[in-house]
Amino acid sequence: ASSDPAQDCIFCKIISGELPCYKVFSDENCTAFLDLFPATSGHTLLVPRSHHEVLETMPPEEVSAVFARVPLLGKAIKAAVGAPSYNLLVNNGREAGQVVPHVHIHIIPRKPGDGLIR
Ligand code: 5GP
Ligand code: ZN
Repeated sequence: ASSDPAQDCIFCKIISGELPCYKVFSDENCTAFLDLFPATSGHTLLVPRSHHEVLETMPPEEVSAVFARVPLLGKAIKAAVGAPSYNLLVNNGREAGQVVPHVHIHIIPRKPGDGLIR
C-alpha cells in the first residue's frame, strides 16, 4: 500500500509490464488488451497510459487521443472475431459500475445470438 494510487492500480501494472495481459494494440497514449472476464468474444479494454480515475481528471487532449483510436481498433477487433458490430462502454465512477479506478473504454464485439440482451 502506497499513497500513490497508481502504485496499486492493476491497469498501471499491466501497462508497466508488471502484470501480464493479452495485448491487442499499443501506442504512445494508450494500450488495449483483452478483458479477463469477456462479455463476448474479443471484449477489449482501451486504456490511457497515464493514471486517471475518471474522465474529468484527464486532460481533454488525452481523452481525444484515446477515443480517436476507437474506429481503427474497433474495425480490427470486428475482423478478428467476425463480429459485424460492437458496443462502447465507459463506467465512469463507482456508482456507474466502475470497478477498476483507471479510465478505460470497453469495446464489446456484437453478433447475432451472442447472448447479450442489448
Ligand atoms: P469496470 O467495471 O471497471 O468498467 O470494468 C473493469 C473490467 O476490467 C472488467 O470487465 C474486468 O473483467 C476487467 N479486469 C479486471 N481485472 C483485470 C485484469 O487483471 N486483467 C484484465 N485483462 N482485465 C481485468
Ligand atoms: Zn492506473
